[in-house]
Amino acid sequence: MTLVSKINSRLPYHWLPDGFAHWLTRLRTKNLSVVLLYHAVGESTDNPLTSGNIHDIPPRMFHDQLSLLKQFFTVISLDEMVSRLKQNQSTTGLAAITFDDGYLSVINQARPILEDLKIPATCFLITKLFESELFWRDKVRWVIQQNLVALFLDFAIKQNVAFKKIRSDHFYYDSKDPKRMNSKLMDAALDAFITIQKETYEFSNEKIYCDPLTIQSHKSDYLNFGNHSHSHYILSSLTPDEQANELETSTNALKQLNQPISKVFSIPFGGPEHYNTDTLKLFKEFGYECYALSNGQRVRSANTHHGLISLNRMMPTQKRWYLSNIG
Ligand SMILES: [Zn+2]
Repeated sequence: MTLVSKINSRLPYHWLPDGFAHWLTRLRTKNLSVVLLYHAVGESTDNPLTSGNIHDIPPRMFHDQLSLLKQFFTVISLDEMVSRLKQNQSTTGLAAITFDDGYLSVINQARPILEDLKIPATCFLITKLFESELFWRDKVRWVIQQNLVALFLDFAIKQNVAFKKIRSDHFYYDSKDPKRMNSKLMDAALDAFITIQKETYEFSNEKIYCDPLTIQSHKSDYLNFGNHSHSHYILSSLTPDEQANELETSTNALKQLNQPISKVFSIPFGGPEHYNTDTLKLFKEFGYECYALSNGQRVRSANTHHGLISLNRMMPTQKRWYLSNIG
């Protein structure tokens, strides 16, 4: 029986996109390992700011993707994967699971599934969101959804001409382009603008991210935590001092959780343009052994830069077009 027919014979996975099974098959037959990256688990996250994008995977689909993965890969913890890579041991047939951004649904929805399937996972937290602050990308989404982009840019340019580099019709992407904008500056302008506008426009500050109390009261052998920075700014858009501050604040906040913290740092946005050599030096300084990216490439071998392991991850979303792009 071929691997494809073996997978197909295991249907009722009929609600899974065909792409996922084919993709797993291709990885496994090529003797590769894989690190998967998820975000929120829920029915469209029930949150208007994040619904309908790559952040959501319904719990049932998450359960079935992991069940399928477990049939063909041995799922180990991310830190175990890193330790094998460090020692140049084979990672063939191994998989690890990660979550970025620290959505509350990882604890409420994903954790029981991980425990049920006995699959370990690492959740990378944005420590600023411990304080019930809104994620700055959610603020960007709010400005777009309220049709306030032009008004926001007028407001921001009056404070700082640097905002002239942001094109209103490319606001979502330009606002996270390290060549155009310092993320900290963008976040501060969004805060000032939203403080004024929320008197007129509907603004929900519903809590959707993990906080220390929830993390501590839901300890699990199958879920540990790691660093995804303090503010989820684009590190390469910041000055070296601002980057150091991001690392120091987040590392200290995670220590307060009194839990084993992953030696892996998950880079916000996870692309090659989102960090620089200053970032890598700081990772070493703060004791991290590996940095995780999300540029959709397979784990091939220990890819070492500045004495750190660089680890690629793939996003198995429900979107078929996406899956077909990354095989
Ligand atoms: Zn992220």
